[in-house]
Amino acid sequence: MRGRVIRGSRNRFIIKSEAGTELDCHIKGKVLKGVEGSYNPLAPGDWVEFEEDPTCPQKGSILGLEARRNVFSRFNHKGFGRRSSAAIQQIAANVDLVCCVTTPSSPPFRPRFIDRVLLQSAIAGIPSCIILNKEDLSVDDPDIEERLLDFISIGYPLLRVSALNGKGLEGLNNYLEGKLSVFVGQSGVGKSSLINALNPKLSQRTGTLNEKYDRGNHVTSMAGLFEISSSPSNTYVIDTPGVRQLSPQGLIATDVIFYMKEFAPLAGQCSYGYSCSHVSEPGCKIMEGVAAGAIHEDRYLSFLKISEELRENINPFEYE
Ligand code: GDP
Ligand code: ZN
Repeated sequence: MRGRVIRGSRNRFIIKSEAGTELDCHIKGKVLKGVEGSYNPLAPGDWVEFEEDPTCPQKGSILGLEARRNVFSRFNHKGFGRRSSAAIQQIAANVDLVCCVTTPSSPPFRPRFIDRVLLQSAIAGIPSCIILNKEDLSVDDPDIEERLLDFISIGYPLLRVSALNGKGLEGLNNYLEGKLSVFVGQSGVGKSSLINALNPKLSQRTGTLNEKYDRGNHVTSMAGLFEISSSPSNTYVIDTPGVRQLSPQGLIATDVIFYMKEFAPLAGQCSYGYSCSHVSEPGCKIMEGVAAGAIHEDRYLSFLKISEELRENINPFEYE
C-alpha cells in the first residue's frame, strides 16, 4: 500500500494511507534502500510503500521510499563526525513552497537567518516566501522595514500576518491553498499558532517557549504534516522543529552566487570571471552592485559569510 509520512523519528513513523488511516510504522529490515546512513531516513511529506501488520491493524512496516520530487534539508551536527551523510537531516519532502516564518520582535527579527532559509530553498529547487507573523507587535523600525522591502524587491513574496488577532490570515490561507508548504523558522515565531489559526480544528498544542522547548523530544513529536483543508483544496503544512541556525548544504562555496536571486545574473560577469572571490578584486560586479545600492549590504555580508563557511567547511550548527 501507498502512504505519506506524517511525522516520525529515526525509525518510527506515522504513515497516513491513501484511504486516510494513520498507522504506526517501523522500517522493515531497519535500513531503507536509497537513504542508508542519513540522519533521518524519512521526512514528513515522503511517500512510502508499506504493509499493515496482519495481527495489529494500527501498525505496519515500511518497505520502500518513492523517489522524491525535492527535499528541504539541513546540516545537523548531531550526525556530524560519524559519517558525512549522517549530518544531513531531511526536514520535509515533496513540498511546493518553503515559508520562512519570522517576526518583527519576540524573538527579534533575524534577516540573516531568512537569507539562509531562502538560499537553502533555492538549492533544493523549491519556491519560497516570507511570513512575517506577530504583525500586532510591529515596532516602527526603519531597519526592519528596509530589509523587508528589499526582500520584496528581490522577488520574494511577503505576507504580514498575526496568528493572535487574525490579521492577514485570509490572504495567507488563499496563498497556501492547494499546496504542501513547509514552515521553517526559529522556535517561538508562531509556526504552531499559525497552523492552529489556519485550521482551528487541529488540536496541536501551542505553548510558551519554555513549556515547549524544555522537553527535548516533545519538539520532534510536535513537528509533522498537518491538513489545513482537505479535498478538493488539498492544503497541507509541514511544521518543523525550531532551528536556531541553518547551515546551507548541498553546494560548494563558489555556487552560492547562483542561488541568491539578485546575485545570480552577475555570476561570471566580474573582471576575474568565475574565479572572483567578490571581496577585493577590481571590476567585481557584486561589489559594484553593493556600492550602487542594487545589492543590500546585509545580503552581501550573508553571501560572504555563507561562502566562507562552505569554503572552510565550518558549520555553525546549533540545535534547540
Ligand atoms: P513556534 O515555536 O514557532 O511553533 O511558536 P508558537 O506557535 O509556539 O508561538 C510562540 C509564542 O508566540 C506563543 O506564546 C504564542 O502565543 C505567541 N504568538 C504566536 N503568534 C503570535 C502573534 O501573531 N502575535 C503575538 N503577539 N504572539 C503570538
Ligand atoms: Zn566579483
